[in-house]
Amino acid sequence: MKINSFRTSVTLAALIAGVLALLLPGCSEPASDQPPLVLVEVAPLAGLVRPLVDPSVEVRPIVPAGVSPHGYQLAPSDAADLARATLVITVGAPLEPAINRAIDRVVEPGSVFSIADVLGIDAAACDHPGHAHGHDHSEGHEHGADPHLWLDPGLMIEMVEPLADAIEARGIAHPQLSGYRSQLAAGLESIDGSFRRQLEPFAGRAIITHHDAFRRIADRYGLEVGEVIRPVSSVEPTPGDLALAAEAIRDHQAGAIFIEPQFSDALPRRIAEQAGVKVYTLDPVGSEDWINLMRANLRALVAGLSEPVPGSADAEPQG
Ligand SMILES: [Zn+2]
Repeated sequence: MKINSFRTSVTLAALIAGVLALLLPGCSEPASDQPPLVLVEVAPLAGLVRPLVDPSVEVRPIVPAGVSPHGYQLAPSDAADLARATLVITVGAPLEPAINRAIDRVVEPGSVFSIADVLGIDAAACDHPGHAHGHDHSEGHEHGADPHLWLDPGLMIEMVEPLADAIEARGIAHPQLSGYRSQLAAGLESIDGSFRRQLEPFAGRAIITHHDAFRRIADRYGLEVGEVIRPVSSVEPTPGDLALAAEAIRDHQAGAIFIEPQFSDALPRRIAEQAGVKVYTLDPVGSEDWINLMRANLRALVAGLSEPVPGSADAEPQG
């Protein structure tokens, strides 16, 4: 209730400001000819938001498609866009601290939709070894909760309802919001079902991934992350990291490893070649079309997990 009345007062204030801007055109920024703007932190979220907003609304990612959010540097124009956006949809878990800081600085709290907050996920528990802290492999390593929330179909299904409500509250909803909301939910549930069905035969199997972005998918669909080749997203894997990945390929009897387009593939390909396993691509951020991105990731997972273990009876001899 408190939040609602706060939101109402924020909306009222914005309305009054808008009316004043109309009355006093000389005093306002020349933004009236621009379409309403919705910013999403990472590109795949754009595809989930677009069907819910009015066709006149521009939906744009802060971090462009295909670019890793880790270490992403905001352009000066990003601050202006953040300030004028009607709604800013953030993951709400630490991906790139500079983005979180910019949002805190220039976006009014009523315009922020934080996925972590809305889903009751403790952002502070989400740990992404990106910059400062290293990765200690010596003890059974502790992983924080995976901040790549958008890669978990189950969480995205939970998000649809509150997202549609937030879009409606900002007055930018598609005229047929309820129909499109049901359609989106059905699309997400179909992807979730495909992951469940197609990964079920591989229950308990381990995947070796490039960086630590697929832990939520693994947890939800009965897989395990055997090892991460690049434990600190901002730096190339060390010889120790590579040795651990090679060991994990053997220990988990993997037939493939998974690389990501945002990072150099040279070192992962070398350990795959040495181990005689195939290389497939999982992409955390490659497209604004979430559904297609996730379909491609599922195909890669199924193909990689179907690869025979080197040295097993059905493995082809390495040439
Ligand atoms: Zn990441």
